Parts: sequence; structure tokens; C-alpha cells
Amino acid sequence: MIYLDSAATTKIDPEVLEEMMPYLQDLYGNPSAKYLLAKQAADAVEQSREKVAHLINAETTEIVFTSGATEGNNFIIKGVADALSHKGKHIITSSIEHKSIIESCKYLEKHGYSVSYLKPDSTGKISPESLKSAISEGTILISLFWVNNELGTINPISQLAQICKERDIHFHTDATQAIGKEEIDLQKLPISSLSLSAHKVYGPKGVGACFLRKTKLGTKQSVTPLLHGGEQEFGYRGGTLAVPLIVGLGKAAEVAMRDHKKIVQHLTALESKIIQCLEKTTDYILNGCPKNKAPGILSVTFPGVNNELLVKLLHSSVGISTGSACSSTKSSHVLSEVGFEPKTIQSTIRLSLSKYNNLDEVEGALLIVAEQANHLRAVGHI
Ligand code: PMP
Repeated sequence: MIYLDSAATTKIDPEVLEEMMPYLQDLYGNPSAKYLLAKQAADAVEQSREKVAHLINAETTEIVFTSGATEGNNFIIKGVADALSHKGKHIITSSIEHKSIIESCKYLEKHGYSVSYLKPDSTGKISPESLKSAISEGTILISLFWVNNELGTINPISQLAQICKERDIHFHTDATQAIGKEEIDLQKLPISSLSLSAHKVYGPKGVGACFLRKTKLGTKQSVTPLLHGGEQEFGYRGGTLAVPLIVGLGKAAEVAMRDHKKIVQHLTALESKIIQCLEKTTDYILNGCPKNKAPGILSVTFPGVNNELLVKLLHSSVGISTGSACSSTKSSHVLSEVGFEPKTIQSTIRLSLSKYNNLDEVEGALLIVAEQANHLRAVGHI
């Protein structure tokens, strides 16, 4: 099967797996204990923390390991809202965030917070002007994605962060789909917190990290922990550390940093190949904004084709999706919010690429996709 769903998850890099193996076997110490086996595990965790910090140009003490971006987003949204509730109870996010942001906000709405959900433009971008006009006296937290997971659209993150900084409001970004694709320099950007996940960058599933910027005084930010009951992770997240997974995340971060340019070039070349193939073979519309997108995520509409049937027909030959894997049973809220009619949403698929795809297989896959799309269109299954 040709895999074109890397925004859902990626294949683990053999280099990453190799690095993890000793910690799944012989180096099994609990990093919080006091003997050599534990020290080896603790050292490995700290090396990974350095690698993750290096990838985003942060301090090691600003990195908190989590189980992934869903947890990271829950932690920041609920934890910051709780810790800052004495200042106000208004939160701003967008209507096309990942569900882990939106549902965390919905939960807070039931507990006395008010949330403004900014509407994107037709390409999925949030405008700095709409952010400015939504800010009010009681705004304590703003969370806006870096790269949208269905369209690949990049938000004007620097401008959005600056607006928050000028008003001294906590700015969080979900950078899950930006990692490894966009350059992230947290010394330059005034972002207060960020979430990321290993399995989107050729690391293992079940691990991620949050960046939480130190305060101006160099102390840690006041954020209520999501998991109580342990001193690990600066008291933000109790629980025995998942050492092998954390080691995997560290290695994935190291490789992402080392190979960044090469991977971006490769993904860009693959995307051009896909568009060339589509041009030759079928009727299609490319969604989002070609000039303002992260490489490797393509949202494509095949007019007159039912996307669910297409995914089904292709299931053993080409792995593609109709949208986010985390809400795959529901119609896409992202496409609906950018103004697509239900009929268009039903004809839209996401193609997402990885460093392991090559030009020939992508061309082969696209021939199959176009053939099946043309078939469905001809038989009129919409
Ligand atoms: N945010 C975005 C933008 C994502 O694409 C995903 C993964 N679908 C997540 C958060 C959740 O990440 P995880 O699978 O690590 O919980």
C-alpha cells in the first residue's frame, strides 16, 4: 500500500527506533530513583529534553514531556485558564483548531469561561485584525494553530504572537503540524506556550512535549497541572516518565533538525509531482493557499466524487483520508468553517506526504486515485 496520510501519523524512523531499543530492554530504570540504572534513564531523558529544546530554540527547563499534542493542548488550555482565572475568564481561539483545543474550550465554557472562536478566511488563515478586535479586558489566553492539519495553511504566527505580547496575554500555539516543516525559533517569537507530538515527525506514538516559556524573572509559569500526584516534569505532570518514548521523541527532534532542509525540499518536489499528475488525469480543485502552506499537506476536492467511497475503494492500495484522523467519523469542521458547502466537503480528501514517499510511488498512487475518482464520477455515486 502506498501511504499518503502522514498528517495522521508517520512511520517511525529506523534511527529513532534504534535509539529507543535499549530503554525498552536493559536500561529500564525509573529516572526518579537514585542508583545507576535510574541515572542512565534520567540522563537519557535530559538529553532528549535538550534535543527538543534545540529544535525550537528554547531552554531545556521550558520543555515538559507529555503523551502527545492532545494532552499538551488540554494541559495548556485548562491549566492556563485555571491559573489565570483571577485575572479574567475570556479565551480566544479559532473555529478550525484541532478538536483537542476546541473541546477543551467547550469544557471551560461549561465552567464559567467565555470563548471567542475566530473565523478563518477562505484559505484557513486567521487575520491579525480579527484577533485584535476580539481581545477584551478579561482575555487571559489566546490559542491559535501554527499549521492547520487539514489544509496545511500557515497562520501569521509572528504577528499574532506580537499582538498578544503587546497586551501581555498568554499566547499558545498548537505546532503539531509545523514541527519538522517550519523553522521554529522561540528566541525570536514571543510565544508563551506550544504543543507538539512525536508521531508526526517520524517518532513514536504516545509522546509529545509542551514548551512553557519562563517568566521574565526566570521562574516557571503558573499553570495548573493536568496530572496531579508526582514531582516529575517540574510538577506540571506527575507520573513515571515514558523513557523509551521520550528518547524516541528526542531522536526524532534531532533528525528533524538535521534533515530539515532536505525534507522540506523533498516534500515540495512530491507536491509538485502530485499537482502535475492531477492536471493530467482528472478534474480537481486544490484548497487552501498554495503560497502560504506547509509542505506535505494537500487538501483536494474532486467535484462529483464521494470522498468516503473513494477512500474505501482505495483502502488496500493507497492510504488517504477525508480529514483529521481524530474526528474521522464526523464531517470536517475545518472545511465547513472556511465556507465549503456540504457537497464540496463530501468530495474533499487530504493527501499528506512523508520523507519516505518517493516520486515514482506518488505518481503511481495518483494514477490510481484519479482513476477511481473518474470512475466514481462516471457512475454518479455522490
Ligand atoms: N493538533 C494537531 C494540529 C494535530 O494534527 C494532532 C494529530 N491529529 C493533534 C493535535 C493531536 O496529536 P496527538 O495525536 O499527539 O494527540
